[in-house]
Amino acid sequence: MTHAVGDSTANLSRCDVLVIGGGPAGSAVSALLAEQGWHVEVLEKDRHPRFHIGESLLPQTLPMLERLGVLAEVEKIGLRKYGAELVSHDHGRSRTVYFGRALGGARPYAYQVRRADFDRILFANCAAKGARTHTGVRARQVEFRPGRTSLVHAQNGQGQARTWEARFVVDATGRDTFLSGQLGGKRRNPRHNSAAIFSHFEGVRRLGGRDEGNISIAWFEHGWFWVIPFKDGITSVGAVCWPAYLQGRQTDPDQFLWDTIALCPPLAERMQHAKLAMPAQAAGNYSYQRTTMRGDGYIMVGDAFAFIDPVFSSGVHLALNSATLGARAVDAYLRGSPEYPARLRTFERSVRCGVGTFSWFIYRFTQPAFRELFMSPNSFFKMEEAVLSVLAGDVFRNRRAALPILLFKLSYYLVSLKDIRRNWAAFRQRMEGVPAPKTA
Ligand SMILES: Cc1cc2nc3c(=O)[nH]c(=O)nc-3n(C[C@H](O)[C@H](O)[C@H](O)COP(=O)(O)OP(=O)(O)OC[C@H]3O[C@@H](n4cnc5c(N)ncnc54)[C@H](O)[C@@H]3O)c2cc1C
Repeated sequence: MTHAVGDSTANLSRCDVLVIGGGPAGSAVSALLAEQGWHVEVLEKDRHPRFHIGESLLPQTLPMLERLGVLAEVEKIGLRKYGAELVSHDHGRSRTVYFGRALGGARPYAYQVRRADFDRILFANCAAKGARTHTGVRARQVEFRPGRTSLVHAQNGQGQARTWEARFVVDATGRDTFLSGQLGGKRRNPRHNSAAIFSHFEGVRRLGGRDEGNISIAWFEHGWFWVIPFKDGITSVGAVCWPAYLQGRQTDPDQFLWDTIALCPPLAERMQHAKLAMPAQAAGNYSYQRTTMRGDGYIMVGDAFAFIDPVFSSGVHLALNSATLGARAVDAYLRGSPEYPARLRTFERSVRCGVGTFSWFIYRFTQPAFRELFMSPNSFFKMEEAVLSVLAGDVFRNRRAALPILLFKLSYYLVSLKDIRRNWAAFRQRMEGVPAPKTA
């Protein structure tokens, strides 16, 4: 059931868990805790359905969607993605890698989804599981009272104030990083920074047959592009670039996106009959992490803790994993269980492991040596299969892939040495985009 703030006559409500943010992480943690019988309330500043970026899912996310009970609905709105087409204009060709070849038996596909539909499904699911959801309500401040309940002060679009008294608070506010804004501790990533400009298009040429739903990733001189096709014929296209490139923009965002597309001939050719289906949008300075994801009476899940870069479509996957393990920790806390500290450690270890595993690949994605390795099929010692398992989202305790991944990393360093000048120049270009260390 969705409640509007103004409906309530009482100004103070009590609950076990107050979740701030109704995106994938917030909806998942709320559904799992409500299922355990806890009184959960969720505040979402927007109203679903609403646009959100982050439209390509990973195969290893599917078991989590199944556990949440929404997989069948996601199948209805999603287009199956069996792999990724890597497009390198420098090499004059493209190459497709398929999840079906990943080490460890991931599902051979994931989905491309419009986030307006996907997030609506997850949000409705937590309400159906018993969480009380409030849309159009923005959390403004949390009063932590050590050893006692916390007070969460919020406001609706008409400026009406309301307060929740909660035994536990979950920050799931995504890149708004609400609690970091209040408590501090958020740091810009010292090794990476990028910015993005993107939109939805009609008339983008599709790949054929079973490859229709594959994501395409195309390198170009200022970064790389994504092409994500949806079931309804619309396609999401975005450029992830060095911040300096985006900062040099002199035209309006629509024109700038078209001009950027023109810099990548294979993509421009695919889009020669395309038309914008909505105004272009930009996102910048988004690579950050907070020093800790937990404190007295609260945890942070999903992007509220960390975000690196979208290249491997890892955001929703990491968000749902942290929500799942975070819910187990909060459940133990509410029960007063001695398992609470151990569950909290498991939650933290897993979240850091996932972010760390993806980071190594993300930082190097634009390096010439990395592109070289990705463009040449290489099944020696199952290296390619192991890398595919990472790309499928098997990043939390993938022991079988550990040795082949290590060999892949060694190969990367060897290939870098072979053309050290180009790789050094690319490294310098990447580091130029990283702002001096200070809080974000
Ligand atoms: C350019 C770009 C491309 C991306 N592409 C992909 C991709 O292809 N695949 C992928 O998996 N991920 C991708 N991501 C990442 C993905 O968008 C996020 O990782 C994912 O949405 C995280 O989910 P979340 O629930 O943590 O946060 P969000 O989805 O951001 O949800 C947070 C929610 O909290 C609400 N909120 C915020 N502040 C408040 C407040 N004070 N009070 C109440 N509500 C509040 C917001 O309205 C929002 O609904 C991309 C990101 C970017 C920037």
